[in-house]
Amino acid sequence: MNDRKVLKVSNLNKIYVKKGSDKVEAIKNLNLEVKEGEIFGLLGPNGAGKSTFINILAGLVIKTAGTVNVWGFNLDINPRQVRASIGIVPQELNLDPFFSPRKLLEFQAGMYGVKKKDRITDTILEMVSLNSQAESYSRGLSGGMKRRLMIAKALVHQPPIIILDEPTAGVDVELRKNLWENIRLLNKKGVTIILTTHYLNEAEEMCDRIAIINKGELVALDSTENLIKKIKNKIVKLKLSKAIDISDGILDTLKVITKRDNSMTLSYEKDKLNIGEIIDFFNKKNIKIIDMSTDDGDLEDVFVSLINN
Ligand code: ADP
Ligand code: MG
Repeated sequence: MNDRKVLKVSNLNKIYVKKGSDKVEAIKNLNLEVKEGEIFGLLGPNGAGKSTFINILAGLVIKTAGTVNVWGFNLDINPRQVRASIGIVPQELNLDPFFSPRKLLEFQAGMYGVKKKDRITDTILEMVSLNSQAESYSRGLSGGMKRRLMIAKALVHQPPIIILDEPTAGVDVELRKNLWENIRLLNKKGVTIILTTHYLNEAEEMCDRIAIINKGELVALDSTENLIKKIKNKIVKLKLSKAIDISDGILDTLKVITKRDNSMTLSYEKDKLNIGEIIDFFNKKNIKIIDMSTDDGDLEDVFVSLINN
């Protein structure tokens, strides 16, 4: 990875004006840069402004103010070069049911003005493992194949940047793994990846750096490693051999979030307390832990934790 910036966004604003003059400030003074060759995650809850941001880059939404620079091209001055530099994989699957993967890719290449001799349809089909289905109708493809075809479609003009909007929304575990493998492979070939998600775990697993936005504002932007360090709270879910009443603060920073029969969910700050101390606490009371899982807390916790830093 080098330090060249392939996306620069300065003071970006988007206000949607709805009928009846209701206004929604979807993006508020957003500033960020993406480096060449990285996997960059845009993380935020529903309604944070992620799709608005992506759609501005894609030329589908007109920004209200600010500058956007993609691959050295200013969106206001060179919109076509900007479009040529990125491949967008939208959240919705919108495929013509009667187009075969090959026909779809050829059609898309035509739309981007890629000359016949410069097309790499077969290479792309192979890359997303759709070569055996190249001539089948899209409507007969499985959900996973359709997702891969959406990625394939974004690759026909060989853009140096691929942007994926919530690529795993409604996607099962097996397919997710496969999707990530495809994305990592592209990244290894030098393609810069920008993806949005509302799952922290997903961003943590995939991204070199993460920007968190909430209500259109940038809340945090850091390397994944640094960001995870800043998240103070941990969540632990326990199933115990018998019910017990415990009060908040019985161990340093420990809080009871929910409790039902023998099960409870607790939160604690990981630099003040560790899971071993929590286990010891129950052991000393002669209560066995039947099942246990820990988690990094949800996005809300992350915001609270980051804002209070
Ligand atoms: P995300 O992708 O993070 O879920 P969106 O960018 O879709 O967020 O939405 C951000 C905000 O903008 C939300 O409040 C949403 O209701 C609003 N919004 C999105 N698209 C439109 C639109 N076309 N017209 C009016 N408001 C919109
Ligand atoms: Mg969205």
